[in-house]
Amino acid sequence: MKNYDLIVVGSGPAGSAAAVTACKHGLSVAIVDKATFPRDKLCGGLFTGRSQKAMRAIFSREVSDDMFSTCDHIRFYASGDLLADVKDAPPMHLTMRRDFDAMLHGDAVDAGAEPYLGQPITELSDTALTLRDGTTLGFKTLIGADGVNSFVARTLFGRPFDPETIGFGLEIETPLVPSRDDAVEVDFDAAQWGYGWAFPKRKTVTVGVGGINSRNADMKANMAAYVDQTNSDTDLKYKGQYLPFGDYKKAPGRNHILLVGDAAGLVDPITGEGIALAMESGEHAANAAAQALKLGAPHKAYKLYMKAVGPIQRSLSEARLWRMIMFPQATHGYFVRTFKRGSWLPMKYLQMLAGEAEYADIRFALIQRIPKLIWRLTKHKLGFRQPG
Ligand SMILES: Cc1cc2nc3c(=O)[nH]c(=O)nc-3n(C[C@H](O)[C@H](O)[C@H](O)COP(=O)(O)OP(=O)(O)OC[C@H]3O[C@@H](n4cnc5c(N)ncnc54)[C@H](O)[C@@H]3O)c2cc1C
Repeated sequence: MKNYDLIVVGSGPAGSAAAVTACKHGLSVAIVDKATFPRDKLCGGLFTGRSQKAMRAIFSREVSDDMFSTCDHIRFYASGDLLADVKDAPPMHLTMRRDFDAMLHGDAVDAGAEPYLGQPITELSDTALTLRDGTTLGFKTLIGADGVNSFVARTLFGRPFDPETIGFGLEIETPLVPSRDDAVEVDFDAAQWGYGWAFPKRKTVTVGVGGINSRNADMKANMAAYVDQTNSDTDLKYKGQYLPFGDYKKAPGRNHILLVGDAAGLVDPITGEGIALAMESGEHAANAAAQALKLGAPHKAYKLYMKAVGPIQRSLSEARLWRMIMFPQATHGYFVRTFKRGSWLPMKYLQMLAGEAEYADIRFALIQRIPKLIWRLTKHKLGFRQPG
């Protein structure tokens, strides 16, 4: 049996980031994935400013023309009604996950991680894992980066997530027609507690809807309506995947086994962004594993990881609070009207995607507007009219 300081299960953005980081620390690393690369991954491929920063820090890579298209034009809708058309948005980058993930996996292997591909893990103990072909590998620490249906999370906790409380998304890649401009589109009403997106790439537009599973009794019907609204190809078969947004794991691991990325539920519950958080958490987990091994105490990895991943969890908690304003029926109308009326909310939203603002900044901006809001509500209640 071959033994490693660290085995990383899953070579998406989270796993490859963990493997690259661990190799920088000089650990012996194996990276296991049930797929071979390139492989498809259902995803809008919107690569935010935060993702850009993480990729630069971990992989020493910049956004390049061969892997990304860039656009600064976005339209926001609610039920097909235009809320905002922003032509000078902070740049948004879009990528095809098939190519992007293969690139990051290649970086992990180049950094020194030994790949075991095309085999899912079928057994996991405290010290070893077994692949479907019977290969057994030993480890001192292990990182579960195996996505939303994580085998590692299931082994630790019985099931990866509660399918009712997490999200579900459907997507198609519809051909890019010449009459279509390059604007990114978002519709806040295309799904309940979620949204619809049309993200143009070089040859196709990724069109999808996603939202909390239990709030959308018929996601296929939502998708059919959105496909129609965006004039997309109606003959294409929808592909679907769970999306753990809003249900992050308070305890992402145990002792020397850590969960990162989707396996830990690290997806923004409003925007659905997960790539950046996957890379960041992968890096934190690998740093924690390396530090624990240096101390000669692999079981300390979890405690060290919790310290580093705490800020990500706190920002997801804050986003969950915002979700309680944006999505419930009672307040959704207010959110949509605010979005339509003023430039501050769309701009803050875009700054967040660009990695230039956080939910705390929106909170601050909203607090500053509370007197105005109270005045507006009072006026409305008392039936005041603007003169003229
Ligand atoms: C419809 C949809 C749209 C999205 N759009 C966006 C977007 O536009 N922007 C954004 O930032 N995020 C988006 N996300 C979220 C984003 O895709 C994820 O958060 C991100 O991929 C998480 O990365 P990861 O490395 O944790 O997991 P993954 O990318 O899922 O990688 C997990 C890896 O583990 C492997 N694996 C799984 N099980 C096993 C096993 N048993 N044994 C071995 N290997 C295994 C898989 O083959 C895979 O390679 C979207 C998600 C969905 C579903």
